[in-house]
Amino acid sequence: MNLAPYACHPAKSKGRIYKESESLSRNNYQRDRDRIIHSASFRRLQYKTQVFVNHEGDMFRSRLTHSLEVAQIARAVARTLYCHEDLCEAIALAHDLGHTPFGHAGQDALNKCMRPYGGFEHNIQSLRVIDKLEKKYASFEGLNLTFEVREGILKHCSLKNAKNLGEIGQRFIKKNQPSLEAQIVNIADEIAYLHHDLDDGFRSGILNFELLEELDLFRNTYIEVRDFYNQLSNEQYMNEILRRMMFLIISDLSNETQRMIKKFNPQAVDDVRELPSLVKNSQIIANHLRQIRLFSKKYLYEHPRIKKMSDQAEKTIQILFEYFMTNLDSIPESFKKDVEHCEKRVIADYIAGMTDRFANDFLIRIESYS
Ligand code: MG
Repeated sequence: MNLAPYACHPAKSKGRIYKESESLSRNNYQRDRDRIIHSASFRRLQYKTQVFVNHEGDMFRSRLTHSLEVAQIARAVARTLYCHEDLCEAIALAHDLGHTPFGHAGQDALNKCMRPYGGFEHNIQSLRVIDKLEKKYASFEGLNLTFEVREGILKHCSLKNAKNLGEIGQRFIKKNQPSLEAQIVNIADEIAYLHHDLDDGFRSGILNFELLEELDLFRNTYIEVRDFYNQLSNEQYMNEILRRMMFLIISDLSNETQRMIKKFNPQAVDDVRELPSLVKNSQIIANHLRQIRLFSKKYLYEHPRIKKMSDQAEKTIQILFEYFMTNLDSIPESFKKDVEHCEKRVIADYIAGMTDRFANDFLIRIESYS
């Protein structure tokens, strides 16, 4: 792999919490990626909602396929910038491990339940999963990943929480940036979901061409595609338009970031951490992305069918939380080992780890007993 001086280098990693001997066949970031793929939390992403709950249909994205798409985009961008692809992949595959069942509605509901006990942030939860909750190894808790992967996973964090997180929380206090690899995954995440939510929205029948043509980038690309092909099915038009939009957005991201790197000329990853964020789209494309975000919010995320699902999800999380408050015995012992001060955190860990299906089944069980 050809690496730029500003890229993260696995041999110069800031290391793992518990010291381990090096792998002979894999670099540090490949090893981290493999640990993530073999974790139970990673497998559970398959049955967690992205936007559409799992039982709505098999053709929609789950958190798992979302994470794979983020990894693909991030790797493609990293390659053009001579950044470390394996590190991007590891961060991308782990970035949503802390998500609750039922997407954002689930996260908001759990945060509400946990408000008196320190709240619930899915980013911190992802870190908690890989640092503590995974039980894979005899000699340490968690997956013992490198600093660079952990830094990339912790995208946001409140100042209050940052103070309790040691070195990994420092950048939120100093207002520094993470590595370029982490910045790439962060934007790849947004590009991935804006793109696939339009696609899933269209497949679900909630979005149609008439609505989508409100988006300047969609409309212009549609005109371009029709100039070449005039007898495609709607599905073919949709796929070709989205493919071209993606290509444009990703190429623009690479080009604009290259321009920023040239301008600021970082010579090491620690330079990157001190500089403003370098991974970005041009203003024109950033405006298009903003338009897509507002469009999806208006027509998709707040659509009555999605809203109904979100309301149901919120209720489910709330009922589960209240149930466990008085039935802590129903939570497996393995969840109770790490939490010294607050048993509510045990409940949050347990609920956050559930798949949509498991949470729904548990709800049915509770309701049939009462
Ligand atoms: Mg994501």
